[in-house]
Amino acid sequence: MGMPLKDSLKHYWKTFSLGELLKGMRVTGKYLVERNKITIQYPEEKTPLSPRFRGHHALRRYPNGEERCIACKLCEAVCPALAIKIELEERPDGTRRTTRYDIDMFKCIYCGFCEEACPVDAIVETSLFEYHFEQRGENIINKQKLLAIGDRYEPEIARMKAADAPYR
Ligand code: SF4
Ligand code: SF4
Repeated sequence: MGMPLKDSLKHYWKTFSLGELLKGMRVTGKYLVERNKITIQYPEEKTPLSPRFRGHHALRRYPNGEERCIACKLCEAVCPALAIKIELEERPDGTRRTTRYDIDMFKCIYCGFCEEACPVDAIVETSLFEYHFEQRGENIINKQKLLAIGDRYEPEIARMKAADAPYR
């Protein structure tokens, strides 16, 4: 069924009078003279990040240096992209620790499920988003690298966790 005549005429009038173009130009003009600019000079300037920002992963330690991760494999099981690979061993005292913890950053979709699933806040996604890979294979981030990132960014990770805590 075609458009009623009245609507058709209205449609053609809107098209030929350039009303919509002028409407768009008005928005452009408004932002041209707007004092509060919404663009920034990246990378010199940065926008604020949410405490829930999901960037590069890290593995955390307790203040005494002990790894938080207890090799429960929940993060591996929940990962929808199958990006996490864990192998583990049992220590003489009966506790379990990972012998291998790899994340394939090419598979990861940064959903945050691993962080949500972890019962001991070991695997986290940090605010780190400026990183790159130069060689084949660097996309596999192993346990040593994840722990090193955790050690380096622990104050920032703790700050983000504390800022988000009231909303959980
Ligand atoms: S953020 Fe999501 S996709 Fe990436 S490793 Fe964690 S669970 Fe897997
Ligand atoms: S990072 Fe957390 S969820 Fe994953 S194996 Fe370790 S303790 Fe379990």
